[in-house]
Amino acid sequence: MRLFECGTLVPGCDWHTRAGEDAEVVRRTVDHMRTVHGETVIRETMIDNIKARIRDDHTAGQTA
Ligand SMILES: [Zn+2]
Repeated sequence: MRLFECGTLVPGCDWHTRAGEDAEVVRRTVDHMRTVHGETVIRETMIDNIKARIRDDHTAGQTA
């Protein structure tokens, strides 16, 4: 699984998401940015920032 923690991009936010593919993590994160953080315009740099912070999730104790 791949993991993105919003707190790595938006300090203080506890939201996180897991998915099998980076593309799905990015999609969910963009949704989150729009609905929770009011980012109506998602720039390419934002996508890059999200991708740079996606990491392998070892906390679930299983492999994807
Ligand atoms: Zn957030």
